[in-house]
Amino acid sequence: MTDDTLLDRALIRLEEAASHLQIDQDVIEKLKYPRETTKTRLLIRMDDGSRKSFLAWRCRYDDTRGPTKGGIRFHPDSTIEEVETLAFWMTFKCAVMNLPYGGGKGAVRVDPHTLSKTELERLSRAYMQAFATTVGPDRDIPAPDVYTNAMIMGWMADEYNQITGSVSPAVITGKPIALGGSLGRTDATARGGFYLVRHLAQELGLSGSRTVAIQGFGNAGQYFAQLADEDGNKIVAVSDSTGAIHKPDGLDVKRLIEGKTAGRRVADMAAELGATVIPSDDLIAVDAELLVPAALEEMITADNAASIKARVVLELANGPVTSEADKILADKGVVVLPDILANAGGVTVSYFEWVQNRQGFYWDLEEIHARLKKMMEREGRAVWAISQDRSVSVRSAAYIHALGRLATAIEAHGTQPFFAG
Ligand code: NAD
Repeated sequence: MTDDTLLDRALIRLEEAASHLQIDQDVIEKLKYPRETTKTRLLIRMDDGSRKSFLAWRCRYDDTRGPTKGGIRFHPDSTIEEVETLAFWMTFKCAVMNLPYGGGKGAVRVDPHTLSKTELERLSRAYMQAFATTVGPDRDIPAPDVYTNAMIMGWMADEYNQITGSVSPAVITGKPIALGGSLGRTDATARGGFYLVRHLAQELGLSGSRTVAIQGFGNAGQYFAQLADEDGNKIVAVSDSTGAIHKPDGLDVKRLIEGKTAGRRVADMAAELGATVIPSDDLIAVDAELLVPAALEEMITADNAASIKARVVLELANGPVTSEADKILADKGVVVLPDILANAGGVTVSYFEWVQNRQGFYWDLEEIHARLKKMMEREGRAVWAISQDRSVSVRSAAYIHALGRLATAIEAHGTQPFFAG
């Protein structure tokens, strides 16, 4: 057992990409550590009159290419390492997509399901009170992540406006439409991944009507299921944090989503959908052409990667496949479309939201979809070409693509040869 952290493991991908490029050591030195991480405790009044405190963080990993950008997660297992790693991934994700942003991330260690709605509102507002000087439309722009949503972003935006005495919708993205949110943001992560797979389907050897298994049935998982289902694919298995179900001839996605929206667990719907309940761990091993991890990080590891039967893995979640598992999948010929590209649709439409907030002019849904599709296809194609030209995995290619852009920006400030020369 090693005592390396999630961030140490994430940095392996940086070093791997750097080995393919002629970049200055100064660049690596800058990208190896977060620029700043703030830790605080949010003290809120509970409904029963007691006070309770929750650990919270905000990390601004790197802002060479623009203000830092990244979601806020509410999760009982959140740690500083997780926040910094997610912020590192955001740095690369924004660079892959050529968005004018650096990477950031935030979290509160809380199980939001144990809070009432009013406690959740107080916690969300307390987060913004604590980090009001960290964030800002030109400094650090949060968004939703696991167990946070548009309403929480709306409360946070409102709190920021009250603190600053202005109305600055561009301080946070993923807001409700009525508060300056963008059309197309809610399904953007799934839609971006969906456009990517469809664009590269031929190269990936995927059939027109493919079978799909989805791990995690929240925002990313549900919308992907819906888009893939409408496009003629068969969703053969899904899971949530409480269980998994399997139906080889395809699940009724509409009813599944209705059930989840009503607060039900996927396993409780098995009988009425004609599906079988399977152990959660078996979901990744079902017979499906495309496997979509859409839950949390490090779900596919050296222990279970060999069981995967899919031809392609689309990482809608951040960091679901460990680097050891990557090697096993590569040996099996499984292509992994990596998180920093595959789930970048979310931050891309967040970028559109920020642009619309700043210009005060709003686009229709058609325009959002067209711009997202164009950017996913453009960067997806560029990454695919690097992987083919250099005979590297798609993940390495995405890191090479991003690192090239980051290095150019960091080097523009001058590196050792300039100062020593
Ligand atoms: P969400 O909270 O809406 O959904 C998370 C889902 O994962 C829930 O259905 C939950 O039950 C399930 N889950 C949790 N633990 C699980 C387990 N052990 N096994 C199976 N399922 C489990 O969150 P989301 O926004 O859909 O985010 C999911 C992933 O996608 C995260 O890694 C997140 O960082 C990433 N992501 C989300 C967005 C976005 O815009 N929402 C953007 C980029 C990346």
